[in-house]
Amino acid sequence: MASVYKVVSSQFLCQRSSVKLTSASPWRGSWYSTAAEPASSPQKEYKFVVAGAGSGGMAMANALTRKFGKGKVAVVEPSELHFYQPMWTLVGGGIKTKEDSSRTMSSLMPKGADWYKDRVAKLDPDNNTVSTTQGDVLKYEYLIVALGFELNISSIKGMQEALDEDPMFCCNYSYNYVDKTFKAFQNFKKGNAIFTQPASPIKCAGAPQKIMYLAHDYFRKNGKLQDANIIFNQGLPKIFGVPKYAAVLTDICKSRDITVNVNHNLVEVRHDKKEAIFKLMDKETPEYVTYQYEMMHATPHMSPPEVLKSSPLAGPAGFMTVNKHTGQHTKYSNVVGLGDCTDIPTSRTAAAVAAQTGMLKQTLAAIMNNHDPEKVAHYDGYTSCPLITGYNTCVLAEFDFDLNPLETFPFDQGKERRTMYHLKKDFMPQLYWNMMVKGLWNGPGLMRKLSHFGFSK
Ligand code: FAD
Repeated sequence: MASVYKVVSSQFLCQRSSVKLTSASPWRGSWYSTAAEPASSPQKEYKFVVAGAGSGGMAMANALTRKFGKGKVAVVEPSELHFYQPMWTLVGGGIKTKEDSSRTMSSLMPKGADWYKDRVAKLDPDNNTVSTTQGDVLKYEYLIVALGFELNISSIKGMQEALDEDPMFCCNYSYNYVDKTFKAFQNFKKGNAIFTQPASPIKCAGAPQKIMYLAHDYFRKNGKLQDANIIFNQGLPKIFGVPKYAAVLTDICKSRDITVNVNHNLVEVRHDKKEAIFKLMDKETPEYVTYQYEMMHATPHMSPPEVLKSSPLAGPAGFMTVNKHTGQHTKYSNVVGLGDCTDIPTSRTAAAVAAQTGMLKQTLAAIMNNHDPEKVAHYDGYTSCPLITGYNTCVLAEFDFDLNPLETFPFDQGKERRTMYHLKKDFMPQLYWNMMVKGLWNGPGLMRKLSHFGFSK
């Protein structure tokens, strides 16, 4: 059996007493008092089981434990460390260290929850159970799924070998390799610096090019720009999904002499020859093109973990199928999901997860009171991508399901700004560690309304 951490501390009691319920609180409404009693059988019973304690799972685990108290929430999460992944762009650019981006899972885990430091091995929503690899079976009244995306590095031939053996081949998407990127900037001499994005869903769709703008700025500042040919090979047909910000990024690339090739999907790396092979996605018959690289930052394919893909919770594409406005599962009404592993059709970011945390609080309250979640929760697809464009500039993209800008500040966020850079570098990490993972941040919706005098969605 996996070790279970059950600690009740004064900190927990403080957290609990600091929660004030107001009529505006997503927790409004009375809750069923049918809390599960601890079972004496090997099967343990909980009111809530949270699968995965990354950005979304940790926020929900803290919010639920604060609301319902000790012993009602179980969390299944195998990792010792919790990562603030949005910082990895800054780590890749040499602005932060990778240690800055992590905290121990135990320091963030709510003290009143039972942490199963183990992997989910089976999701069985027909029997309301989650099984772990070490044999624990957790029965739940409500299941919160936040299993994120896993990297499928091996789906690009030669990528794993290149990551392990070529110092000039890097990837910000993995904690294990993120510190290779800045060394590649420093060791760059002359030739192609290639940055790739696959033709499939990834987390933070802006990250593959943010690191490219940092490389450009680094080369400029260090006298290497005249020897660098910077190329963005994008597997999709557009540089960025949202027209407003795509236009801004296209102009930036033109003005910096960065070549943008769309429909170029990385399929193979031959690091011994410093070659990368791309499939041209707009051709009827398969066509490939080979590029030489001096340095390369590659973004791998990603997907929900296998345990979710092979469960009854997943749709044909492998994502957990949920109502996009409420997060409630399309078939199992006591199951909700948030974050990268769901089929919510918005850009997968921690910012989206924050807004989805607010959505799930409303949805769970409605479900538990036999109300229709769609009448109370209405997630609009809010997501945000701070597009770092240099060592002191950033375009803060914020948008909804329809790719309409949903900007928090009362000025045009489509401009490169120093203030937005500091928001990303200095403020957002604090917001994440002090509010978001504690389940206290539901996104900037209220701020947006205030800053637009109520004239914003
Ligand atoms: P995660 O936070 O990834 O958590 C998933 C959790 O599930 C993990 O803890 C994992 O260990 C656990 N898990 C996996 N399998 C199992 C299993 N079988 N059993 C139990 N647990 C399991 N977002 C922004 O908002 N702004 C940005 O600027 C930004 N930049 C990014 C840059 C990079 C390089 C990367 C990688 C991401 C970036 N993101 C950004 C995206 C953001 O980090 C993710 O969208 C967000 O973390 C998703 O949260 P999640 O809870 O869905 O998944």
